[in-house]
Amino acid sequence: MFKKVLFPTDFSKGAENAIKRFAKENNLKIKEFILLHVIDRYVIDEFMGGYSLVYKFVQKELLDVENKFTEKAKEDLEREKRKLQKNIRADKFKTLVKIGVPYEEIVKTAEEQDVSIILLPSHGKLTFSHEVFGSVTMRVLRKTKKAVLLIKAEEV
Ligand code: ATP
Ligand code: MN
Repeated sequence: MFKKVLFPTDFSKGAENAIKRFAKENNLKIKEFILLHVIDRYVIDEFMGGYSLVYKFVQKELLDVENKFTEKAKEDLEREKRKLQKNIRADKFKTLVKIGVPYEEIVKTAEEQDVSIILLPSHGKLTFSHEVFGSVTMRVLRKTKKAVLLIKAEEV
């Protein structure tokens, strides 16, 4: 039984499969499960042609774009939640969207929410293209004070 779990997702299939399998094999029971997606600030900036970080005059447009990305992320999180709930039994199941630098927001959210553990997949969308860990996972491991359970992502 885990108390309060943070699972960050970039919606990659390999990570989703791995955590579902882990939960099933261990008959995992969780009090509170938090599913987090971080919208990368630099992806938004790129979408806006590189202006959002520099010019104040695009503030309103920036807000509109942020809202659009947030809406989409919320829908994706709901879909992901329904898939995960087939294997993960949690008394409470929350979804969260943040905008920022992914590893920073993951580390920050773990503190804010005072989770007891982070379930961290080894890889995400760019699974096994290069290193032992993905760059987000590596940075979270380096920065967080929380306990981390590293879950090797499946190759898909
Ligand atoms: P790369 O370093 O090239 O991005 P990768 O995509 O395979 O390689 P990571 O980005 O480190 O590896 O992803 C590992 C895990 O980190 C993901 O499965 C997910 O749990 C988490 N993660 C990555 N990006 C995000 C994000 N934007 N929001 C929430 N969690 C993320
Ligand atoms: Mn990645």
